[in-house]
Amino acid sequence: MSQFWSPIVQTLTPYVPGEQPKLPGLIKLNTNENPYPPSPAVMSAMHAVSADTLRLYPDPDSSALKQTLADYHQLATNEIFIGNGSDEVLAFVFMALLKHQAPLLFPDITYSFYPVYCKLFGIDYQEIPLDEQMGIRPADYHAQSCGGIIFPNPNAPTGIALPLAAIEELLVKQPNVVVAIDEAYVDFGGETAIPLIRKYPNLLVIRTFSKSRSLAGLRVGFAMGHPKLIEALERVKNSFNSYPLDRMALTGAVASYGDEAYFQQTRQAIIDSRDHMTQELEKLGFSVLPSTANFIFARHASLPASQLAAGLRERAIIVRHFNHPRINQYLRISIGNPDECKALIQTLRLLT
Ligand code: PMP
Repeated sequence: MSQFWSPIVQTLTPYVPGEQPKLPGLIKLNTNENPYPPSPAVMSAMHAVSADTLRLYPDPDSSALKQTLADYHQLATNEIFIGNGSDEVLAFVFMALLKHQAPLLFPDITYSFYPVYCKLFGIDYQEIPLDEQMGIRPADYHAQSCGGIIFPNPNAPTGIALPLAAIEELLVKQPNVVVAIDEAYVDFGGETAIPLIRKYPNLLVIRTFSKSRSLAGLRVGFAMGHPKLIEALERVKNSFNSYPLDRMALTGAVASYGDEAYFQQTRQAIIDSRDHMTQELEKLGFSVLPSTANFIFARHASLPASQLAAGLRERAIIVRHFNHPRINQYLRISIGNPDECKALIQTLRLLT
């Protein structure tokens, strides 16, 4: 029935997220979710939502969440944009803020949704190769005339972060285009670019509640930047879906910021497990890239990654293996809880 498809749909090759298997007992370390539940404060706030309010549309401006985020990050509410997961926020960024006269720049190894959005919105792009250590080389982005720059910091799936000074230099060198920094994983040890927002009107920082806030299932993301950048995103939002955040998500997201102690505790537990798991993998003959994320990217000295991924899968552990020629020797392993990490290491001991 594809004769009914529009020409653009025929050309799309959509992003395929990591599988979400439902088998009980499976150890799922393939999509960088948080192994810990959200704060109990989130659950009780959502339980307290009255049935009667669900009859009504939610606040189209998500004002309560904007205010919460503004207070926490020391910004004004007109410097914050809220969306239904950072994937949606990113879609709006691609639609609203990237100039189409010149190619958008991003790394050749990065979040695989970026080229998908470019194809969907007809944006020309150029992929800049990572260096030999799998890091982003900021100087490669300095002199290029381009329509914008986007990358995650820390990058995905490598987990390697750029220091704030490198981001600032990029903003100085490219003052005429939007530099979008996707900070999905920044809470696990990276340096945030938020302090540069008031200094550089071309900086946009994108965040998610899916990783460090344990709320991937709620779909909440946001962007921070100059009010003029935010205004562009709001224009797109209000031409598309005025109510991106439902009442439950709004309530849960606000409550999450009310429990700072829980956030710090779970964040630190993941950092500690990551550092421990890195050492254990190294003992088993893996080389592990220096991660500041809630996952690690590792390759074994002799065994093919595809074989290891299949072996783990047979033993009920799922990790991510990419079929991309530059990185098909690597496994991306999300940091689980201590029991899951232990099971992973024990299973790899059998396989290596
Ligand atoms: N950016 C990066 C770099 C990611 O890895 C992800 C999650 N896969 C996202 C954005 C999207 O996160 P969400 O839509 O859950 O907020």
